[in-house]
Amino acid sequence: MSDQAMTREDKLRFERAPCYLCGYNSHDYYQPNVHPCAKLYHMPEDTVESLREELAQMKQERDGWHRDATSHLMALCEKQAEVNALEAKISELGGQP
Ligand SMILES: [Zn+2]
Repeated sequence: MSDQAMTREDKLRFERAPCYLCGYNSHDYYQPNVHPCAKLYHMPEDTVESLREELAQMKQERDGWHRDATSHLMALCEKQAEVNALEAKISELGGQP
């Protein structure tokens, strides 16, 4: 993945211009708008802490989707029951549902 934060080793390598990724060795070395690799350099490192935060956020999102899915499923069951009842009524009146 090219958008991943650099490891500590990579950061040290990056600090020794020219850039180990693209060979860039000029002005504004640390400016991502001039030298795109600098963006990776400035990204926070993956730490257990940051990954836990990401995980917690992900779980929260998943739980939200689960709630939504559950309520949609319940609504679907209710709607199906209404459809069944109406079809039964039409059949009772001798029609084709
Ligand atoms: Zn570079």
